[in-house]
Amino acid sequence: MNYHRKFSFTKTAMGLGILLLIASCSNDKNNKNTASEMNENLLLAQWKGPYDGIPAFDKMDVTEVQSAIETGIASHLDEIDAIANNPEEPTFENTIIALERAGADLDRAFVYYGIWSSNMSTPEFREIQTTLAPKIAEYRSAISQNRPLFERIKTIYENSLKTPLEGDQQRLIELKYKEFEMNGANLSDEDKKRYAAIDSELSSLYTKFSNNVLADEENYITYINGDQLKGLPESFVNASAKTATDNGQEGKYAITNTRSSMDPFLTYSEERELREKVWRTYYSRGDNNDANDNNDIVAQILKLRHERVQLLGYDNFAQWRLQDRMAKTPQNAMDLMEAVWPAAIARVEEEVADMQAIAKAEGNNITIEPWDYRFYAEKVRKEKYDLDSDEVKQYLELNNLTDAIFYTAEKLFNYKFTPITDGSVPVFHEDVKVWEVNDVDTGVHIGLFYLDPFARQGKRSGAWATQYRSHSTFDGKKTVLASNNSNFVKAPPGESVLISWDDAETFFHEFGHALHFLSSEVRYPTLNGGVRDYTEFQSQLLERWLYTDEIINRFLKHHKTGEVIPPALVEKIKNAATFNQGFATTEFLASALMDMKYHTTDPKDINPRKFEKETLAALNMPKEIVMRHRTPHFGHVFSGEGYATAYYGYMWADVLTSDAAEAFEEAPGGFYDKELSAKLVKYLFAPRNAMDPAEAYRKFRGRDAKIEALMRDRGFPVPAE
Ligand SMILES: [Zn+2]
Repeated sequence: MNYHRKFSFTKTAMGLGILLLIASCSNDKNNKNTASEMNENLLLAQWKGPYDGIPAFDKMDVTEVQSAIETGIASHLDEIDAIANNPEEPTFENTIIALERAGADLDRAFVYYGIWSSNMSTPEFREIQTTLAPKIAEYRSAISQNRPLFERIKTIYENSLKTPLEGDQQRLIELKYKEFEMNGANLSDEDKKRYAAIDSELSSLYTKFSNNVLADEENYITYINGDQLKGLPESFVNASAKTATDNGQEGKYAITNTRSSMDPFLTYSEERELREKVWRTYYSRGDNNDANDNNDIVAQILKLRHERVQLLGYDNFAQWRLQDRMAKTPQNAMDLMEAVWPAAIARVEEEVADMQAIAKAEGNNITIEPWDYRFYAEKVRKEKYDLDSDEVKQYLELNNLTDAIFYTAEKLFNYKFTPITDGSVPVFHEDVKVWEVNDVDTGVHIGLFYLDPFARQGKRSGAWATQYRSHSTFDGKKTVLASNNSNFVKAPPGESVLISWDDAETFFHEFGHALHFLSSEVRYPTLNGGVRDYTEFQSQLLERWLYTDEIINRFLKHHKTGEVIPPALVEKIKNAATFNQGFATTEFLASALMDMKYHTTDPKDINPRKFEKETLAALNMPKEIVMRHRTPHFGHVFSGEGYATAYYGYMWADVLTSDAAEAFEEAPGGFYDKELSAKLVKYLFAPRNAMDPAEAYRKFRGRDAKIEALMRDRGFPVPAE
């Protein structure tokens, strides 16, 4: 419900987890000598112990990681070569299934690698990571550029068009073929060369782009004095003082050029001129006409991307990128954004009017400018919603919330979570807890759930979900090892861990990812893969159970008195969800629309500064708001390819979330309706990517998702049919 928060943790969930997800996973059917048996590197070794083997997290040694990854890569490439050069005619069995089975050693090594990179990083590990990064990239392209391998996949794919395989096998071969084809495997040798040259040029441009943004973030710090702190919260002042001292400016206060510093400063500082300065500095990153200016780099990136997809026969980058997404075409994504846009900018007008009134009442004869928005919005929030987040926290105790997510899983998925406390499952840190997951009725073992709740040195920020082993059945049933990770602050012994409402939502969100992993029923590992504009939907949907009366009355209890959270306070939380949605939706959509416009326009003569200005003017962008990420620092889109023409995806998933939540609101049993939860599990969770997401949604809802529910959630007027 809280919209902009999703940006940060959605990104984190897309890290290594997805990489592992897509990778294959097989442990016990390799008859030949695996690398692990030959060199006894623990990180490559078969997993031993209960539950068909579990990672030896208690014995992992960072000095083994480089050789484990290198050996794992070598053995996977050997396996790939054997498949590619098999003298027999290509078949689904000897090629596709063989590919699914290959790379098991490396998968295991990557599980440990993922723990070091996300949960237990050290300077020593980061050095190894830097050494390994180009080797991992090289390994990936060695597979995607393997022509004999692609020829076999292509033959099987073409045969399947004449004689279709079973449903999930057909989906698998189509996904495999697409993956190779989209990455240039079908090109002539000459085009392939150009394709590779473009890729390498792009990757250095991406690095330059990020470095320029980083340089502007690090070099432009605004230092202020003790008499310029009016309005700023004490915690912010203390942190600013410390940063200034760390930078050799003792006695001053540092406003760094990052969102986490800019945002609270603009919200609370009463110094209007300073607000303008901080605002301008932040939104000029990469746009200062100096050595770190990104405008030319953006133009070059757009041209190269365009050329590359033209080699593949597409009109533009967006068309190429969206074909295997749920949206499928740029037009579908644009249609959604354009449908919401008018309501968003109309709401901005109302928000500005509210703010203007407050400014006037305070005797400030000003016109609201972009650097005033957060400041006056905060005053509106206090006046209209008056929500004391500290009061809310007293009812959000971590152990109770853990019971709450398990309760939700039991009601919807029929899962029972039993803590494992006898030490039989090794963990990488004493704070990590493990539960066994079983079916309530049959007792069938589903998997394990690892929870690493607390912040610590070397752990990355935010919250994320990953899995150490994914479900598959093609090679004997593999059970799931799912994990959730967050950064709650540990309480002193004997005291309760209290978290914010936002963090409680995130806790449910990440658990939604874990349930998505655990409930998988796919036969082949590749079918566990995520679809960028669909994979956040399940987790976003699960957040809605936090708002249900069952959870509120059973689990949201005062940590000292045990009293249930007062209904009036819950009401305030619910009302606050639509606060400032004009701002949040408009700044988001402006970026998402620009992302799509850039990649559907011929970039031959593009001048990003001019293009941004003219496109926004044509959209009637309110002058009080700026894009959430302006072009010269839009890292999602220009520091790599992960989110290029994918930024809309957050809203795409939100439409599904709102629409599916309304299905529960309308059901006879509400959010705990038996029939609808069964459909939820069957169509929206268990198939993962074995079913086309649009088709899966239709099976759940009986129709396509409509945007009306999203409009209601944001407090926007619903457009007439
Ligand atoms: Zn997520």
